[in-house]
Amino acid sequence: MLLIYDGDEMKAITAIVKKVMILTVSLCVSMSCSMGESAGRSKMNDNTKKTEEEWKEVLSPEAFRVMRKKGTELAFSGKYDKHKEDGVYKCRGCRQELFSSENKFDSGCGWPSYYQPAKDDAVKEQVDDSLGRRRTEILCSKCDGHLGHVFNDGPKPTELRYCINSAALDFQKTETATFGAGCFWCTEAVFELMAGVQDVQVGYMGGTTEDADYKSVSSGKTGHTEVSQVVYDPARVSYEELLEVFWKVHDPTTVNRQGNDVGPQYRSVIFYHTEAQKQTAQKVIRKHQRKLKDPIVTEVTKAKPFFKAEVSHQDYFRNNPNASYCRFVIAPKVKKMGLDARE
Ligand SMILES: [Zn+2]
Repeated sequence: MLLIYDGDEMKAITAIVKKVMILTVSLCVSMSCSMGESAGRSKMNDNTKKTEEEWKEVLSPEAFRVMRKKGTELAFSGKYDKHKEDGVYKCRGCRQELFSSENKFDSGCGWPSYYQPAKDDAVKEQVDDSLGRRRTEILCSKCDGHLGHVFNDGPKPTELRYCINSAALDFQKTETATFGAGCFWCTEAVFELMAGVQDVQVGYMGGTTEDADYKSVSSGKTGHTEVSQVVYDPARVSYEELLEVFWKVHDPTTVNRQGNDVGPQYRSVIFYHTEAQKQTAQKVIRKHQRKLKDPIVTEVTKAKPFFKAEVSHQDYFRNNPNASYCRFVIAPKVKKMGLDARE
């Protein structure tokens, strides 16, 4: 990602830097304002601390019995026991994200089972000596709602089984989209700011080797491309809206090149996860082509294994706002998208 500028470009960059400084200040002000507002809101409407009467008002009788009275639903009776859709399972009490469908497995025990929580700090444990034996109880870390128990008989990689009551969970469907559009630092920064986007990870996809990391992909020999993998709520943002941003964040008419980033790892690709995504991508390409003089070279290909990039590449723009690549390349793209800090 070496940047070389001549005299005219440096003048242009100086102008951009001034604009970026203004943008950064306004972005920070806007972010701190929105954070301040949400902190204020949560103080007024804290959904994690309620009296017993207040919990009774917001939970169904079964959810109240399970979550506040440490009850257990009958085996094979819960609605998420055999549930198989892609998405996240949130706490029925406070809406915190607790488990992901990625970590769900069919244990045959009669309750939804996961081998790990969505985040390490989403749940907390405490010793439970009821029923005449020692077990480890699992609670929501925010609202202390009882969820179930964890046992040491799960599958790899953790060998744990989080055995959870469906009544304590609320499922939210999510979809995944994967885009290669040049440097993944840029695409991640832009998608992360879109409303309805829940998570973006950067990584590598579409190559021929069985593993991928930054060094091997940068050689251009593995065939992988840098991608942003976007998890989104289809009720809040459509795949077509994501594609609109995909077109704006890069030039889909250049082969294996975005600005000064050159090589197959920077090629323009839409990796579709469903037939519907494929058809939408092809339709949107035809529509977008009418606006462009040069032919679109974007590949539309089925999603392949995703290799998550190293930690230092995740959230690069957020963690390195003063790096030259962020100031000169990413910040102007964020501004061009007209995106504001995420709510
Ligand atoms: Zn909770």
